[in-house]
This record gives sequence, structure tokens and C-alpha cells, in this order.
Amino acid sequence: MLTVFGSVALDTIHTQYGVACDIMGGSSTYAALSASRFTETGLVAVAGTDFPDEYIRMLEGAVDTRGLRIVPGKTFRYAGRYQDNFDTRVDLGVEPNVTMGNEPAVPPEYQKSRFVYLANTDPIQQASVLERFPEAMFTMCDTINHWIDTQRDDVVRLAGMVDAVIMNDGEARRLTGHHDLVRCAQHVMGWGAEFVIIKKAEHGSILFHADSAYPLPGIPATEVIDPTGAGDAFAGAVMGYLDSVGRAGVDDLRRACVYGNVMGSFVVSRAGVEGLASLSRDDIEGRAERYRRMISVE
Ligand code: AMP
Repeated sequence: MLTVFGSVALDTIHTQYGVACDIMGGSSTYAALSASRFTETGLVAVAGTDFPDEYIRMLEGAVDTRGLRIVPGKTFRYAGRYQDNFDTRVDLGVEPNVTMGNEPAVPPEYQKSRFVYLANTDPIQQASVLERFPEAMFTMCDTINHWIDTQRDDVVRLAGMVDAVIMNDGEARRLTGHHDLVRCAQHVMGWGAEFVIIKKAEHGSILFHADSAYPLPGIPATEVIDPTGAGDAFAGAVMGYLDSVGRAGVDDLRRACVYGNVMGSFVVSRAGVEGLASLSRDDIEGRAERYRRMISVE
């Protein structure tokens, strides 16, 4: 089983098409739903009593929710607005609510997980969940500007505790102070992570390992409805695929990043988690095969 820890949220997302209020969001929600298309996935997160039953049922249909703690109070809320034809997202509000003062609980059944993904949330909580998995074979963390701005030292400490760090290009630049992405990745690897994955939205991703870089182009999309969660779905797919093969060498990570780009591309074409919920393994393999053909040159 893969364990995924992070935020479960109610998101309010403004796009050029309108406003979607209090829809199911959260870094671990997207990551776990995406991972669940590849492997058995256990979710660790804290939500409030206002988190709708229908969202819980939807999660239960795809992932193991024994690690989802529902506590009295309001669920974490995030609001953001996309601008410039989806090129930038401005944060309008982050309300931690029940994620503050309520420790996540890791069910004993999850502790056998050999692969653990720490989706974007408070880096102190990410580190404390990681400590519950001393035997894990491969661990990866994400972060976001909010934590880089408010708890940078904790983010840096966490980057030294995991096998891989995944971030988008803007976050990598903000965290390290470099512009060049190769230097950003080397800087992060200097803190201890063996792999760094930098996501570049519609321009794909670069996997870094030792002195090598493995770029992948983005999958051309004709229809972008809501990019929220695409990065989390990318990371969930990487971890889900790695758990499914039970290995995490550099070639496995290269193959995993193909699935990362594929799952990210499914998310952007629908609002919220809709792009993930209905996907079959055939849909995923079909797009992955077309993508592999697109990137191979005779
Ligand atoms: P992404 O579009 O991949 O950056 O992920 C967006 C998701 O992350 C949304 O569903 C939000 O609920 C969640 N999110 C946004 N800000 C934070 C934060 N500071 N901590 C935890 N989760 C967050």
C-alpha cells in the first residue's frame, strides 16, 4: 500500500469560466485519487465535520480512508484565482481551520507502506508523519509558495529527510533563490534528496538525479478548464506507479514521470477532481502510449 498524507480541502476556484465554490480539493485528495489508479492507496488527512458526506463517499470508492480523521470544526479552505489565460494563480485565501491543532493519525495498517508521499501541507506535520515510516523504501514531498514564505527552514529540513522532492518551477526558484532550474535542483539535492522533479505546468517536467536531467514535454491540451490539482495528480501518479512496480531506480522514475504528465493532463480538462474520478486504466494507458509515441523520434 502507498500512503499519501496532505490537505483535504474545500476549494473556491475563480477561472475565466466562473467561480466554483467549496468544491472538493486538497493536495492529498488529488494525489491519492490519482495514485489509486495505479495501486492500493491509503489517505492520511484531517477534515472538519462540514466536509460533505458525498465527498467522503467518493473518496471511499477509490482509496482507503481509515486515515481520514473527521474532527469538530471547519475543513481547510483554499481560494485562488487564475489569470492571464491560466498562466498564473493568485492565492485569495488559505484558512487552516482543523488542520491546526489536530494531529493526523496514521492507522497501524498503513505503517507497512514502503512508499510514502507527503503532499503539500504544513512541513512540520509532513516531517512528523514521515517519522512514522522508518522502514519506508521511497519517500517524496511537495511544497507550495505559502510554506516557502512562512516556514522555509522547515521545508529545507524536510527536503533533507526524503528521497525525492517535487515542486513546480516557480516554487523551486523561490525556495533556492536561483533562476536556472538545473541550479535549483542541484541546490535541493545538496540538502539530501536523491531525486528532484520540477513540474513546468503545460511545458512538462524535468527529473533530476545526480548530474543528469531527464526532461519530458507537456501533453498538448486543447481544453483547459481548471488546472487546480494537476501538480498533485502528477505526484500521485509518480508514487502510485512506483509502488505498483515496487522499485524506485532512475529508470523507474523516468517511466513514472510519463504517468505524472498523463494524469496532470486529465485533471486540467475538468473542474476539480472530476477529471480523475471517472478514469479507467485503459484511458490512462491509451494516453500514455500516444504520449510515448509523441516523444520518441526515429
Ligand atoms: P496544485 O494546483 O497542484 O498546486 O494544488 C492545489 C491544491 O492544494 C488545492 O486543492 C488546495 O486545496 C491545496 N492547497 C492550496 N494551498 C495549500 C496550502 N497552503 N497547504 C495545503 N494545501 C494547499
